[in-house]
Amino acid sequence: MRTPPAAELLGVWERAVDLTPVERLLAVLAAADPDASWDALADLTIGERDVRLLAVRERLFGSAVAAVARCPACAERVELALDTDALRLAARPPHGVDGASRDALVVDVAGHVVHLRLPTSVDLLAVSATADVEVASRTLLARCVVAAHHGDVPIGGDALPEPVRHAVVARMAEADPAGDVELALVCPGCGGRWHVVFDAGAFLWSEIDAWALRTIDDVHVLATAYGWSEADVLALGPRRRRQYLALAEARLA
Ligand SMILES: [Zn+2]
Repeated sequence: MRTPPAAELLGVWERAVDLTPVERLLAVLAAADPDASWDALADLTIGERDVRLLAVRERLFGSAVAAVARCPACAERVELALDTDALRLAARPPHGVDGASRDALVVDVAGHVVHLRLPTSVDLLAVSATADVEVASRTLLARCVVAAHHGDVPIGGDALPEPVRHAVVARMAEADPAGDVELALVCPGCGGRWHVVFDAGAFLWSEIDAWALRTIDDVHVLATAYGWSEADVLALGPRRRRQYLALAEARLA
């Protein structure tokens, strides 16, 4: 893995208008790992993908993660100081799921035996055009059921009774917890406690979006002040860029 070069990351950001959120994140991973094929990246489980996204995030923006949540009871704004290490620890499977077992999970509940695999970006892409969330989640689950039996009778992944579906979803979350990192929060205002899901992909993308807008702003200021090209500005190290920006802004003031 490498730090995606600024020009490439800006390119990913620009192309993202034509991409789904799932594809955007794959494009970020591809920029950080040019040797990996798109298919190999798309075949990572969502948890594996998110662990990699956290590593990309560390390289781009450091390990400190500042997030904001709102207390559901009293609407107090709660600032969270997290770091990527803690998020990775929260994301670790309790019993470890390796490549061999991620495709061989078994749920045995209420007389139903279900063999399943963990969802990947390929599965998310397959349902990304489905507007109805309930239909999308049923389709996703059915895709991940390798085989299911009630007693000796085989049943389709889309025909599992409700309690069995719940058990399947719970088993997936347990086996691939990075896809579903929950944070336990306490409100400093009212003492209320609640949980939020930390979505590493959405969080990183919002940071890349803000970074791209800031970068374009910097290019605009420096190109105007010095006649430099975008490539010239992007080639500057962060300290030199800050210094030139300060000089350009002092001159404009
Ligand atoms: Zn509160």
